[in-house]
Amino acid sequence: MENSIHNLIIVGSGPAGLTAAIYAARSNLKPLIIDGDEPGGQLMGTSYVENWPGEKSILGPKLMMNIRDQAKHFGTEFLAETVTKVDFSKKPFTLWTNRNKELKSHAVVIATGATPKRLNVPGESDYWGKGITTCAVCDAAFYPDKNVLIIGGGDTAMEDASFMKKFTNKITVVHILDKLTASHAMQQRVTNDPDINIIYNSTITEFHGNGEHVTNVVITNQNTGEKIKKDIDGVFIAIGLKPNTDPFKEHIACDNWGFIKITDNTKTSVEGVFAAGDVHDYRYRQAITSAGDGCMAALDAEKYLSNIK
Ligand SMILES: Cc1cc2nc3c(=O)[nH]c(=O)nc-3n(C[C@H](O)[C@H](O)[C@H](O)COP(=O)(O)OP(=O)(O)OC[C@H]3O[C@@H](n4cnc5c(N)ncnc54)[C@H](O)[C@@H]3O)c2cc1C
Repeated sequence: MENSIHNLIIVGSGPAGLTAAIYAARSNLKPLIIDGDEPGGQLMGTSYVENWPGEKSILGPKLMMNIRDQAKHFGTEFLAETVTKVDFSKKPFTLWTNRNKELKSHAVVIATGATPKRLNVPGESDYWGKGITTCAVCDAAFYPDKNVLIIGGGDTAMEDASFMKKFTNKITVVHILDKLTASHAMQQRVTNDPDINIIYNSTITEFHGNGEHVTNVVITNQNTGEKIKKDIDGVFIAIGLKPNTDPFKEHIACDNWGFIKITDNTKTSVEGVFAAGDVHDYRYRQAITSAGDGCMAALDAEKYLSNIK
């Protein structure tokens, strides 16, 4: 595996990378996936997914295992390592891993996703995916008439709060500053809504639950230190995303936030290197859109490879 030149290396095994692999494997490209430290991607950390076509309700890890099996079935190889460095200045491209493997490939799909920022406070990792989530579009419907908290004061937090209104009137926004940072229009939609309560200058400092699901939080005022305990059913954390582009960002064009810039759907600034999923798409951030992107990236890579060979 190490000495040969691969047709296609796919970096990342979330919905984008695995779907790219299914398409590439079925085109006989014998793709290699480098898994990274979260094989299966973000859905491995959630419970039920109800917006994947063809599955009314499926556990996130089960869905990802099914897609992985399908990719493997058609001949995808997997390497349980992480890409730490690349050289895209010469062809074939070179990628190095955390175990010092040097791999060469004629084409690369980057599908390394983005990591939602966490508060990093006690209880958060215990209840991540068990009532703590980052995706209102995905999970709002699980909270009809329930008490929910939205953490953040930017556009995403405001959008999440507005979206939650379709399901519940018991919404509290907790924001660390004394003013919201969202655009004026988005702020107004929330501040003018009598059902949305906003707690300023505050953040969650502890999550508690019953082992299965988060049930209450401690909210601490950053100025006074005052703590309040609040019973809740769900928490939506909307404090930003970090695209996983550290090994690549010196070699391909990225925007100011580190997301990969693309043209023509999947093409990066380096010919032969393609991007798919949350690593470039901060707008939709869905499993299905990432999978669709993975499909497009594989088809584009296949076309690129057939032109250079
Ligand atoms: C709690 C939660 C619940 C969600 N629920 C839903 C839902 O119900 N429905 C829905 O559609 N979406 C949901 N989402 C969003 C969805 O998970 C993402 O949009 C989707 O997983 C993005 O897919 P991706 O393949 O682009 O990246 P990811 O899933 O983020 O996968 C990235 C992959 O890249 C790998 N990687 C990263 N860096 C490296 C590296 N240097 N070298 C090698 N590999 C690397 C990781 O190990 C991982 O395998 C949810 C997200 C969260 C956090």
